[in-house]
Amino acid sequence: MKRLAVLTSGGDAPGMNACIRAVVRKGIYHGFDVFGVERGYEGVIDGLFRPMGLNSVAGIIQHGGTMLKTARSERFTTEEGFAAAIRQLRELAVDALIVIGGDGSMAGAARLAAAKVPTVVIPATIDNDMPGTEYTIGFDTALNTVLEAVNRIRDTAASHERVAVVEVMGRSAGHIALMAGLACGAEAILLPEHPADMDDICKGLKQSHQRGKLYSIVMVAEGAGKGFDVAAQIAERTGFKPHVTVLGYIQRGGSPSAFDNIMGSRMGALAVDTVIQGNVNRLIAYQQGQLVAVPYEQAFANKRGIDLALYELASILAI
Ligand code: ATP
Repeated sequence: MKRLAVLTSGGDAPGMNACIRAVVRKGIYHGFDVFGVERGYEGVIDGLFRPMGLNSVAGIIQHGGTMLKTARSERFTTEEGFAAAIRQLRELAVDALIVIGGDGSMAGAARLAAAKVPTVVIPATIDNDMPGTEYTIGFDTALNTVLEAVNRIRDTAASHERVAVVEVMGRSAGHIALMAGLACGAEAILLPEHPADMDDICKGLKQSHQRGKLYSIVMVAEGAGKGFDVAAQIAERTGFKPHVTVLGYIQRGGSPSAFDNIMGSRMGALAVDTVIQGNVNRLIAYQQGQLVAVPYEQAFANKRGIDLALYELASILAI
């Protein structure tokens, strides 16, 4: 009997539901029995498997979050927890477990693969910080959420002729700050990958104020520092009184963008094709405009930094 299981793990990301739907429907289309696992690796350990029919994924594509729920599982990283997970998956006898999640989830899937439980990973996290792929499901929606929030903040900043400091998510990576900063025309972008000179930034803010610019947006990646600290440094050096917005979890939720639903659907479908072709233990990756399935070792070895050319472009366009 052909069997697949699918779970979501790590932080939720908009587009995960489209991806679950694609795995379930493409799987059924090709004659698989498909099981959904609730609560990520926690659910594997506890055997929270439920058969998924065509209707089980109806009416979910427009929602953020994940209908299978997600979790971070301490137990899975312990010897007993991992052994229990292996027992459960062997009993379920799946051709592959499809894991939708971030780099931690991929590390977990690679461990399962090494223990002879076939897995395929679909990259999903709003941070876009996974090795081996240029895109992770959820990133585009998060960028659009930041853009919309900045456009609201901009109205107040312009009315009060202020500097607006906006702290965005991304953990130790600056992809959200860089791409949202470029998209909203931020005057300065602070990234963990590219330490900024606060004197230079403040000089630029003062010059643009003198030139008559009504307001300035300073985008701060959470990995580069706290928005409030950055605002204090700007105030000390310029005399301006920046206001600070920490966007937080609003960046994780919301209806997925068209792009995330399309990527979720395509990646989910390719994951099933990859299992059918017997190419398991791979990451479904977006590389140079193509979707490809790359072995985990190759994916882990392909660490991605930020695109410095885009950082330079954002700086030039903000003069
Ligand atoms: P996000 O990017 O949204 O945080 P993630 O997949 O990186 O997603 P993590 O919390 O790092 O989120 O990982 C999810 C789960 O994967 C962990 O709770 C743990 O159960 C498992 N995991 C993480 N790292 C490892 C590892 N090195 N070995 C085995 N399992 C791991």
